[in-house]
Formats: sequence, structure tokens, C-alpha cells
Amino acid sequence: MSTPHVVRALRFFETHADAITEEQIRICSIPASPFGEQERAEYLSRKFSQLGLSEVEIDEEGNCLGLLRGSSRAPLLVVSAHLDTVFPKDTDFEVTRRANKLFAPGIADDGCGLVALLAIAQTIQAERIPLEGSILFVGTVGEEGEGNLRGVRHLFTKGRWAKHVDAFLSFDGPGVDRITNRALGSRRYRVEVSGPGGHSWGDFGLPNPVHAAGRAIARLAAYPAPKEPRTTFNVGRIEGGRSVNAIPSEASMEVDLRSTAEAELQRLDAFFRRVVRDAVDEENAKRRVGDALLKLKVDLIGERPTGETAADSPLVELAIEATKVLGVEPRLDQSSTDSNLPISLGIPAITLGAGGTSGCSHSLDEWYDPSGRDLGLKRGLLVILGIVGHG
Ligand SMILES: [Zn+2]
Repeated sequence: MSTPHVVRALRFFETHADAITEEQIRICSIPASPFGEQERAEYLSRKFSQLGLSEVEIDEEGNCLGLLRGSSRAPLLVVSAHLDTVFPKDTDFEVTRRANKLFAPGIADDGCGLVALLAIAQTIQAERIPLEGSILFVGTVGEEGEGNLRGVRHLFTKGRWAKHVDAFLSFDGPGVDRITNRALGSRRYRVEVSGPGGHSWGDFGLPNPVHAAGRAIARLAAYPAPKEPRTTFNVGRIEGGRSVNAIPSEASMEVDLRSTAEAELQRLDAFFRRVVRDAVDEENAKRRVGDALLKLKVDLIGERPTGETAADSPLVELAIEATKVLGVEPRLDQSSTDSNLPISLGIPAITLGAGGTSGCSHSLDEWYDPSGRDLGLKRGLLVILGIVGHG
């Protein structure tokens, strides 16, 4: 922090605060629904090129990449934020402004992370900070929900940089104290039960898919989930049937299972699969002789690994020190973010807040207040320079 170009770089975030907010508004006004991130990725890649990053590309999965090359390729640090939001295609992404607050779906999650990538790259370039290692800036696709970390998964398994990344830092949402070093694991399922269907009176006795689903939900709801390690389950969607006086021919549900401990997640997962099978078997056992059986289909639609970057690892220690040096008390945290994937591969990874404050995340009323954002950006820059090294 005493190096003159670092001092200037840190000040940059204060003097350019308004321009950073204007850029965030431009990014967030470009729609980015799950599997619909392309336009936003193209915009970000144009910005990467304008900032003088090299090897700018949009990869096969849709991630947007740009390299800020130091005197050597290694260590290579990925600095990322996610392009996608949880909102569907027809959402109005237009940003509105009231007093200090910006309103738009995804304005904070992860609009403030995306603009952090640009602000940090711009600062390093403007102050000509000589880097030892290199930084690969990445806007990832598919971080939210059904995206199932597809962007970061591609980056670390099939992408051309997959074998070369030494550490990973993701900016996700606001705040200056949070250091997410533990990955919250989850499994998500879609369950479909189908059967012959028929008349509620005339065909009474036929196996009923909705009844089977109801039995399964009742049993799952009774699962004694431990508070510690925190373990949760949720039947988030159910569907089925067409009419009050028809035995339905299908029922479906979507289920989210989570735990901070892999062993607990596996226990809950095994329990869930068993009760679904038992529920269908019970419903089938009640049927009249000769009636068709219910069929069960259980699809894993999401899987996020559990794990952690040790609190005493250099990356986490650096983040703790960078937070303290700015006068903020750091808080280690567990969450489900793009960092889950590198953590599961043994690559040091953390997720940081990108500064500012927000509320109503994942709702149409989502807001972001950029006041004090510079602290989050300063912290991010200090961690980045600490990892890649600077002359
Ligand atoms: Zn996010």
C-alpha cells in the first residue's frame, strides 16, 4: 500500500466512482437471463478489448475472457463475476435511479461484480502497474440456479485455460467484509411420476401420481435435518393434473437439497431418493389388479460440490489482511458461488463482495447503493496484486 502506483490505483476508485456507476448501469440494462447471456457477454468482451486485454474471446460455453498479461504467465489468477441473473427472458432489465439507489433485476447480483472486473482492469492499465503473474478476467455464464455453474465448470474442465489456473477470485454481490471461502453444496432434482390417469369416480383405485408425490413430500418434510452442520431441503415447485374430477396422468416436483457438510448432503440425498421410490411403491401397491403401474423418473438437474479453501491458506489470509488494512472486520462465510467448482478441484478460490450495499436480491425490486463501493474495489485490488505480484 506504500508503493506509489498502488496508492494512485486505490485513489482511482474514488475519483472514478461516478463513471463506474454509469458503466454498471450500462451493463445491467443489457438483458441476461439464464442461457441468455450472449448480448451481455459480447458487450463485456468489447470492453475487455478497449481496456487493452489480450486473447479476448467468448468461449464455447459463452464465458467472456480477457487476459492481462504480466511478465510471466504464472501465477495465473482468474478474476470473475457472473453474467447471468435469475430472471426470465421477458424481464425488464432497464435500470432506474432514485436518490442514491439503482433499481434493476440483477443490479447487485451480479452487476456490481461485473463492473468491478472492468474498474480493476482499467485501474491496473491506467496506473501501469507492472504485474509479475497474469490475470484472466472472466464473465461467467450459468452461475445461478439451473445454470448449475456451467460456465465455471467449462472453464476448469474443458476450456483452454483449464490446466493453468493457480487461484480463483470471484466478485459476487455487494459488501466489504464477506470472504466466502467455504462452498455450500447442493443437489437439485426434478421428479416425474406418470400413470394411466382416468375418471375420478369411474376409475377410482387407479394409482394416482399426485397422491404418490404427496406421500413423498410428506416424508421429506419430516426429515430431521440437523442445524449443525446446517442442512436444508425444499420442494420448490409442484405440478400435475388437469381437472378436479380426473385422476391425473402425471405429477412433477423440483427439489433443492443443501448442506454445509458433504456427508450430511449424501445422507439427505439417499433419504430423499428412498422416500420417493417408497411413495410410488405404496401408491402402486394399492392399485386394482390389472391396472397399469405408476412410473417414476428422478433427474439430477443441479449439483454443486461442497468444500473449502482453508482459512490459513495464503489466499484467504491475504483477503483477511486486505480487509483489516482498510479498517473493516473480515467475516469468513459459506455460500454457493462460482468458487464451489475450483474449490472442489483443490484450486484455492474465494468469493468477495464488490463493495456498496444492496437489498431484495433475486426479486424484481432488487436495488444497489454504490456509496462506499471504493472500499470493496480497493480490497479486491489488494488481494489480486498480492496473488499475482507486482513490481
Ligand atoms: Zn450471484
